[in-house]
Amino acid sequence: MIVVLFGAPGVGKGTQAVILAQKLGIAHLSTGDAFRAAIKNQTEVGLLAKGYVDAGDLVPDDVVARIVEEAMNGQEFASGCILDGFPRTRAQANALQALLAAKGTAVDRVVNLEVDDETIINRLLQRGRADDQEDIIRNRLSVYNAETAPLLEYYSNLGLLTSVDGIGEVEDVSSRILAVLK
Ligand code: AMP
Repeated sequence: MIVVLFGAPGVGKGTQAVILAQKLGIAHLSTGDAFRAAIKNQTEVGLLAKGYVDAGDLVPDDVVARIVEEAMNGQEFASGCILDGFPRTRAQANALQALLAAKGTAVDRVVNLEVDDETIINRLLQRGRADDQEDIIRNRLSVYNAETAPLLEYYSNLGLLTSVDGIGEVEDVSSRILAVLK
């Protein structure tokens, strides 16, 4: 099963992806985590991505493709995966479709977690990651609205999209998502 966890920064994609991957026994790919690891290890991809991640801008699609292809060729992805933070642009959605088609598979479901902006900003300020400063958070939200949110219509037109209320206790949100995937 291939599931895309969709939504603005701070809606809880990462938290939910870890729980779902465990419950469903499938892999979890967070492109954000992959970039942070690459930056920490100063790999070539990390050096290319650093300025964008620090500023809260999108890493260019060709660099994203490199990290995703590498991850998805790993053995643990054979039984499926939860994609967290990818795709974020139409070009990435097309690349994902092609990558999966080459493996004879496709996205099964896109779950859009819905949380209002004020709650998002409060959550992220509490989390306190390096890119969780208010001006960078606001930039990430506007990048999401401009470049990523249009994918909602794309996946809705494909009949793959379900929206889920992302407000509430972590376990309650997980149950809502699992109900969609049953
Ligand atoms: P995240 O952990 O998903 O909040 O991502 C943190 C940062 O990593 C983002 O603000 C982007 O700079 C970068 N990033 C993560 N995933 C992507 C992606 N699919 N496309 C472009 N940039 C990404």
